Amino acid sequence: MPELPEVETSRRGIEPHLLNKKIKCITIRQHKLRWPIPKNLPQLAINKTVRAVSRRAKYIYLELDNGTIIIHLGMSGSLRICTDKTLPEKHDHVDIQVSNGKILRLRDPRKFGCVLWADNPVSEHKLIKLLGPEPLDDSFTANYLHDKAKKRQCSIKSFIMNSHIVVGVGNIYASETLFRAGINPKRKAGNISLSRFEKLVSAIKLTLNLAIKEGGTTLRDFTGISGQPGYFAQKLLVYGRKGETCTQCGEHIKQFTQQARSTFYCTACQR
Ligand SMILES: [Zn+2]
Repeated sequence: MPELPEVETSRRGIEPHLLNKKIKCITIRQHKLRWPIPKNLPQLAINKTVRAVSRRAKYIYLELDNGTIIIHLGMSGSLRICTDKTLPEKHDHVDIQVSNGKILRLRDPRKFGCVLWADNPVSEHKLIKLLGPEPLDDSFTANYLHDKAKKRQCSIKSFIMNSHIVVGVGNIYASETLFRAGINPKRKAGNISLSRFEKLVSAIKLTLNLAIKEGGTTLRDFTGISGQPGYFAQKLLVYGRKGETCTQCGEHIKQFTQQARSTFYCTACQR
């Protein structure tokens, strides 16, 4: 599943091709994604200029003067830039063509993604309104997290994966950041000290920034016509490494299930 770093990498990949270009044509081959694509999307967006290509959580925004096209990649979606010389394939559900002839093409085999319209301001849209802060913003601090965690009985792992608390920490990154911060994923969020939250916030920012950097180097070509843009293989410290030795202490990495999701951690390094 595309996580925040892959979505940010996608955003950076498509931005130069779309910015300040006018939308000329929108082709919808499949309306039924996670939510139906609004029938009047072309009517709202055609002949409008893309003023910004931005991101909030895992939503990519094409910001126009009269509103915003919101794109989510769901479980398996990907974006690429092509021209009409590249014929759409089976799972290429939406094309957005701009004035330089380039096409932004959404491929989504499992159809859990979405393409929606939001009137201004996009921050009031129902999918966006209740989202917590961006993990890479300066407003996301240890004090903020510590405050939100007060009296919370849930595990720290489910706490940081809660998008009302902070967006963009998916299952893989939750394991990775808790390992970097030396915090046991089962520990109750409300029992963690401010100084440990400082480590955790640094670990979240570091882990996501490294993954975005990695994405930038491995996912350069958004205009490639062959195959998938493909999500990059990340260098992971604990996730998916059950039974392998910990990079810090040599213990074996353990796996268990929390809220039906796999958690990986080192019992020696994480307390
Ligand atoms: Zn260890």
